[in-house]
Amino acid sequence: MWRDYLRSHWPLMSVALLLMVIEGSTLGALSWMLEPLFDRVFSAKEAGMIWWVGGAIFGLFLLRALTSVLSRTVLTNISLKTSTAMQVDLLRHILTLDQGFFVRNPPGALIERVQGDTQAVQGTWQVFIAGGGRDMVALVSLFGVAISIDPIWTLAALIGAPLLIVPTALAQRYIRRKTRQMREESSDRATHLDEVFHGINAVKLNRMEDYQVGRFTALVNKIRRSQVKMSASTATIPALIDVTTGLGFFAVLLLGGGEIISGERSVGEFMSFFTAMALAFQPLRRLGNISGTWQSAAASLERLYGLFDTEPTIRPPAQPKPLPASTEIRLEDVRLSYGQTPVLRGLSFTAEAGKTTALVGPSGAGKSTVFGLLTRLIDPNEGRVTLGGTDLRDLDLAELRSQFSSVAQEAALFDETIRENVLLGRDDVSPETLARVLEAAHVQDFVAPLAEGLDTRAGPRGSALSGGQRQRVAIARALMRDTPILLLDEATSALDTASEAKVAQALEDLSQGRTTLVIAHRLSTVRNADKIVVMAEGRVVEEGTHETLLAAGGTYAALCQMQLVD
Ligand code: ADP
Repeated sequence: MWRDYLRSHWPLMSVALLLMVIEGSTLGALSWMLEPLFDRVFSAKEAGMIWWVGGAIFGLFLLRALTSVLSRTVLTNISLKTSTAMQVDLLRHILTLDQGFFVRNPPGALIERVQGDTQAVQGTWQVFIAGGGRDMVALVSLFGVAISIDPIWTLAALIGAPLLIVPTALAQRYIRRKTRQMREESSDRATHLDEVFHGINAVKLNRMEDYQVGRFTALVNKIRRSQVKMSASTATIPALIDVTTGLGFFAVLLLGGGEIISGERSVGEFMSFFTAMALAFQPLRRLGNISGTWQSAAASLERLYGLFDTEPTIRPPAQPKPLPASTEIRLEDVRLSYGQTPVLRGLSFTAEAGKTTALVGPSGAGKSTVFGLLTRLIDPNEGRVTLGGTDLRDLDLAELRSQFSSVAQEAALFDETIRENVLLGRDDVSPETLARVLEAAHVQDFVAPLAEGLDTRAGPRGSALSGGQRQRVAIARALMRDTPILLLDEATSALDTASEAKVAQALEDLSQGRTTLVIAHRLSTVRNADKIVVMAEGRVVEEGTHETLLAAGGTYAALCQMQLVD
């Protein structure tokens, strides 16, 4: 996949590669120029050659400067394009994953993946190709010059190289392990920050500032320790190269020194060789460094691949059936566990088309889980859920979801204007329709007095609005979507009496003529419902209307008695 990203940029890549070859080979050419400099200018005293040799050397530097700027620009361009494409693909992929995945991977960790890991890859990628490619070419050209002068000397210069193999391999494994650990720790840090900032009021009211700062300190210290270990081990590879280069120099001097003293070889040849070796030293060290950097990029890449390889468990069918005409919803012996914990244990009921069905029961009974099942945020382990007689798993996912609007207790608002929060990206809504919807959802009531009206921003997660206002925005969204099925999770404590009356009225208008399922807390809704399903521990314990259930004198009657309703 990484290769696919690169493949799409191959024309630019080849330009960059060509520039790198030119830039890299200037070093070889430079050391090669030293031979005429010493032997013809200095030893043979050909004064006329000064201009030629000097000019050629200056020209090489000029070429190097030009190609280095160009190749760097082109490579930065490619690497940024690649990493942004990767970020977009990553987000697109993450959005297909299901509930279970998001429980395992908190938002902070995912943000760190999309930003941190792709950036880590991009940064090192740039170092790897920009530095690595050029340095490889430089090394090839420099060793070419060295071999052309004396293959034996070259061999002697490389005498320490075998010493590098084992320690380098060990260091690389260590670096990869530490990077993996550091990326995990960075995810924890992001998750921690996300939780602190989202729960800022709880942190302040519970006087948890010091506690949270303490936990954060522990986290960043862990990251720091891993990072120091990683940097230190990354630095050992070029350090090892230093040692082996030192050995090589020594060996060449021992071997070549004698030959020059005896006049077998010219000083120019020796200088040219020595310069080639000296110039090879920096690229070699950098390459050694890059091998460490590459390990950390590989660790980030591994994490990214792991994410790309995570398949959504909820998939649309290959051959979707057409949407049924009826919106009758039926659950047939549905069983569902979160991990090992069974939540629904053989749940069966029918919500008739066009009617209101209320789900009642203690908290934890599985009522919200039912809503998740209907919109296929989660699939049952056993049993089936049908819409108009068709199993939900046989319907196209997008089509299925377009049948539902939901108004939850905590409306998920975005940090955009109220208008945008109601329209949710739709641009085909006439101003008259919008006005009608805002009126019906009682949004107009609180928007009218605002200085910026509909263009007031809702704040992060809608925090600039009150609970009741947020819910009315959610109702406006549902009215705007105008879907045949409605899922309502009634707010209870979030609303004051005045808001509650307005929200209740708006909800009642909204549910007219739609198949409505409501998780009911207010007994007024329950009483008006066409059917009441009483749930406990993932099963239906009773169902009927308010009157029949009261008369039966079971759980529901006891519940009503507790709430002093007759
Ligand atoms: P209700 O809406 O009736 O209060 P829920 O459907 O929200 O009940 O939850 C039913 C049970 O499932 C609860 O015990 C809850 O702890 C558990 N539960 C809900 N969602 C998850 C989840 N994503 N992961 C693990 N357990 C969950």
